[in-house]
Amino acid sequence: MSRIICKIANAVPDGSRLAPLFDRHREQCLRCQADAVRLRGVSRDLSGLETEILAAPGGLHTQVMATLPIQDASNPRRPLLIRVVARWATGIGVAVATLAAIIGRRSRRS
Ligand SMILES: [Zn+2]
Repeated sequence: MSRIICKIANAVPDGSRLAPLFDRHREQCLRCQADAVRLRGVSRDLSGLETEILAAPGGLHTQVMATLPIQDASNPRRPLLIRVVARWATGIGVAVATLAAIIGRRSRRS
């Protein structure tokens, strides 16, 4: 039962209205105190890594590029329909002009 209370007490943020209700538990519970010490240690360790810069392992660039699909020259942020229309616009234009010419020629004959 106290384990559930510990989980709830640790999940409640410090500035919230519920925090004072669990402060007494946190002050008396050894498990909560150990969790708080562990959390401060992890936070301190992470703060020490703020300026750490790691070099990418060799071959990572090649692996990433090999997993990417083939890209066309169009902007990938455009919607797919617009990209398809932009890619085939010339062909579609020629087809529409040919169809218009055929229809126009047939209408003159009749
Ligand atoms: Zn506790």
